[in-house]
Amino acid sequence: MGKQEDFVLRALEERDVRFVRLWFTDVLGFLKSVAVAPAELEAAFAEGIGFDGSAIEGFARVSESDMLALPDPSTFQVLPWRDQSRATARMFCDIVMPDGSPSYADPRHVLKRTLSKAAEKGFTFYTHPEIEFYLFKDSPQDGAAPVPVDSSGYFDHTAQSMGADFRREAINYLEAMGISVEFSHHEGGPGQQEIDLRYADALSTADNVMTFRTVIREVALSQDIWATFMPKPFTEHPGSGMHTHVSLFEGDANAFYEPGAEYQLSKTGRQFIAGVLHHASELSVVTNQWVNSYKRMLGGGEAPSYICWGHNNRSAMVRVPMYKPLKGQSTRIEVRTIDSACNPYLAFAVMLAAGMKGVEEGYELPREAEDDVWSLTDRERKNLGIDPLPETLDEAIEVAEDSELLAETLGEHVFDFFLRNKRQEWADYRGQVSAFERDRMLPVL
Ligand code: GLN
Ligand code: MG
Ligand code: MG
Ligand code: MG
Repeated sequence: MGKQEDFVLRALEERDVRFVRLWFTDVLGFLKSVAVAPAELEAAFAEGIGFDGSAIEGFARVSESDMLALPDPSTFQVLPWRDQSRATARMFCDIVMPDGSPSYADPRHVLKRTLSKAAEKGFTFYTHPEIEFYLFKDSPQDGAAPVPVDSSGYFDHTAQSMGADFRREAINYLEAMGISVEFSHHEGGPGQQEIDLRYADALSTADNVMTFRTVIREVALSQDIWATFMPKPFTEHPGSGMHTHVSLFEGDANAFYEPGAEYQLSKTGRQFIAGVLHHASELSVVTNQWVNSYKRMLGGGEAPSYICWGHNNRSAMVRVPMYKPLKGQSTRIEVRTIDSACNPYLAFAVMLAAGMKGVEEGYELPREAEDDVWSLTDRERKNLGIDPLPETLDEAIEVAEDSELLAETLGEHVFDFFLRNKRQEWADYRGQVSAFERDRMLPVL
């Protein structure tokens, strides 16, 4: 038993923990949990806890369904929203096969594998997500439009507002679980909030995003309201993105930082952006995985629609923030495509793989977009070499099917399952007769 395992076993006693939830994530990004008694934990560390992988979305074929959840002791935390005596704790798990090899279906493993590849080249990958979501007065009612908890807008400060109280409680819980929060504010839509997590290595951040979603839902339930990470709940209001700031470090040095260079951005930084842009359409199905994701990116609402980069340009897909140009450690890029309903492990993995491809192959960075790219005409964008991102899930699937980068990064099993699942989603959606069609057609046809 290692040091960290010992620490957890001691903490169980000291903090009077009666239930330990073992958490892992399915291929589509839904959190799974199995509670074990503290007495089982020593065995769980040694051998894992067995479960039926074929019952988890995307995990296994029925014929090879035995899988084990192996808790990662470094992720041990007591859940602050449960009683603190007879407490409940959680750990994230790695999923392994009966022979001890990592499961090919585990999104956490997909990210770990991609991180190790970058580590072989000497790089550590850091991410810092800005997570947007909506708060509604009630749980979803069939067919009815949701009612936001307030009608405030971007950065609005309203005395005793629901949103501010909500954010304060959520942040207390997050901090209690070791997740630092940098900023929080009201976002542009009514009832829309944003909370930004402090940067950390990408595996911790992906775990933190999963925890974050759980905390937000728990706090909402406790306040009798409803939180959603749906990418675009309203036609007329902005969607919820998960802009992610990313950087590569070589040891203690930020590999994106070069003093004196344009925007202090090193060659590695430029090549990384070039990789993300070059493969943007391929990544789309992962960073924006739902039919609804594409409605967020139709133009406006500060969600990107075109493949380009810029500094200080919020119409660009990748932005080089200029806030602290003198502090080299904070040099980073902001990828603005990703939405709040992605699987963070897979999204970070494909983003890193694309960026690393740019670095390894020495991709040239195209010219930066200086204009508001939404206000240009198609022809102007074409002349500037600015292509659109996939406009529907269907288009994204089509590009993804031919992507070697995706197949390689996700691994054959996740790649196949994911695309099969997404094709089905598109087929289900395509067959739906919508309110839009009825409203337009019944009166006149
Ligand atoms: N909500 C916007 C999006 O979906 C972002 C708005 C902002 O953070 N400026 O990407
Ligand atoms: Mg922000
Ligand atoms: Mg925002
Ligand atoms: Mg942002």
